[in-house]
Amino acid sequence: MRAQRCESCGSLMFTSGQHAMGNPKSPYCIHCTTPDGKVKRRKDVAADLVRHLMKQGMTKENAEYKAKRIMVKQPKWKKVREVIHKTRRK
Ligand SMILES: [Zn+2]
Repeated sequence: MRAQRCESCGSLMFTSGQHAMGNPKSPYCIHCTTPDGKVKRRKDVAADLVRHLMKQGMTKENAEYKAKRIMVKQPKWKKVREVIHKTRRK
């Protein structure tokens, strides 16, 4: 199976177990969805992504910035692009 990108957080999914509800047809990953397969609220997805980036050694500030940059590129969150313009990196 080819790896697919989660349409919410952009992470790669290599196995069906990484898709929402273990369903390879879902365009979202398990981290972005609730146990019943619904996509979480944007701020919850962002918080998860920030935590994930901080685990890789980023500061909170950088992780928050990066999380926004990643999310505005994803099909699920493209609409909220305007958010990023209000939070430019200092
Ligand atoms: Zn995801």
